[in-house]
Amino acid sequence: MFADRNNSFGPNIEIEAEWQPFKASVDAFMGQETQWTAKPIVGGDSLTTDDVHSVKSPYDHALVAGQVHWANEAIVNQAIEQADAAYPAWSQTPATDRAACLERMAELMEQNYAELVALCHREAGKTIQDCIDEVREAVDFCNYYAQQARQNFAAPKAFSNYLGQTQQVQLTGRGVFACISPWNFPLAIFAGQVVAALVSGNTVVCKAAEQTSLIAYRAVQMLHEAGIPTDVLHFLPGNGATVGAPITQHKRIAGLAFTGSTGTAQMINRTLASRGVAPVPVIAETGGQNAMLIDSTSLPEQVVRDAVRSAFASAGQRCSALRVMFVQADIADRVIPMIAGAMKQQSVGLPYLHSTDVGPVIDEKAQQMLLDHIEVMKKEGRLIAQSELPEWAERGTFVAPSAFEISSIDQLKDEKFGPIMHVVRYKAKDLDKIIDTINHSGFGLTMGVHSRNETTCAHIAKRARVGNLYINRDQVGAVVGVQPFGGQGLSGTGPKAGGPHYLPRFAKEQLV
Ligand code: GLU
Repeated sequence: MFADRNNSFGPNIEIEAEWQPFKASVDAFMGQETQWTAKPIVGGDSLTTDDVHSVKSPYDHALVAGQVHWANEAIVNQAIEQADAAYPAWSQTPATDRAACLERMAELMEQNYAELVALCHREAGKTIQDCIDEVREAVDFCNYYAQQARQNFAAPKAFSNYLGQTQQVQLTGRGVFACISPWNFPLAIFAGQVVAALVSGNTVVCKAAEQTSLIAYRAVQMLHEAGIPTDVLHFLPGNGATVGAPITQHKRIAGLAFTGSTGTAQMINRTLASRGVAPVPVIAETGGQNAMLIDSTSLPEQVVRDAVRSAFASAGQRCSALRVMFVQADIADRVIPMIAGAMKQQSVGLPYLHSTDVGPVIDEKAQQMLLDHIEVMKKEGRLIAQSELPEWAERGTFVAPSAFEISSIDQLKDEKFGPIMHVVRYKAKDLDKIIDTINHSGFGLTMGVHSRNETTCAHIAKRARVGNLYINRDQVGAVVGVQPFGGQGLSGTGPKAGGPHYLPRFAKEQLV
């Protein structure tokens, strides 16, 4: 039922063949002069403001993806008041009707696939494969949450009546839910959060990352077209100071879904808690310091494929991406040169070519942070390999995928969100110590394990405190409804997106 994503690394001939006819429709949106506009949408009206920001394409700064009119505090307040007023009617709208809106949204995204792919590519600089996966994932979220709502929200659940009474539990919305989403999955995570909140019976105010408001604006237009009433869903583009802060300070916010950095999640929690109203749920999906453990029974060819994909696909800009590869010393001298070889073959460049493996990073700030880290690693670690950048790379924000050998994960202070992999050798007898050190970092999002020893795999799975553990495969690309995604500790509160426990966190339970 849900998309079976292409998990292979490197050019895929089958996909290339499928892509050719589809390319023509994407091309229609790819003209140099094509630009999009995003504005705050309140009560269905797109509002023009005087705080307008240009969005440059990450792969070529001479290309402008569009203009974004940022909202301000007055607009935020107006949106929250309207959403609050719309809540009683929306929460009483049958869950089956709300689910039908999500299914129509999925259809609309399928119909507008080419525009969404082009927009995701132009605005977020994602490779074509990533853009295709992005739209598919957004479609999957809509269909999956619609199905979950039909199962769990449409009718009250009867509970055992051994008391000789009848009791039922009904899930309903909580009120105005705020959704604050990241730039790395500008459509999938944005739409995933928003439709989960809506289908659970909440009205919604949503803010996309300031880097990627154009595609989010199109998604909100489509949601209205799909039948979500205009007073139920409001769009508030801007940054943390102009929009994020007034949203989180507002007393009517009844719950908040956030994906982004751990620091921002902590700040959101503090702000919400300081409002002097009842505590509300925060669903936070944050960063990671994700490891892959490779023992001497693993298959080096497979390790290389999976490690390179996990670290460098999507330019390493996935929360799930591999940051530290631990390789058992006995096979390190085999695996490390093979990784270096595979990195030399990666094609880094224009994301619109289907043969491109790694595109740009999102913006100058991210690029500078990564380049600074590379300089530190050159001094404190050993450079294993660096993929080559094309000559024209300075046109956008490219960072050469790099791998460094270091002596311990303790050398890394925080998550470096980009195409940099660290490699640490370990001795078999130290496996538990390694797992404990990873646990002590406080992050707990993904972990990869490569081993042919089932006892080892089972042992690691028990000891490691991570949300998603992947054995003998890559550790990115969780599939909605099949691999619920989310971490623990500093990596997030749960429940997992794309899993059966997600929607209930957006809801209140009432027993009658
Ligand atoms: N669900 C994505 C994956 O499994 C990552 C989501 C994120 O980066 O926040 O790769």
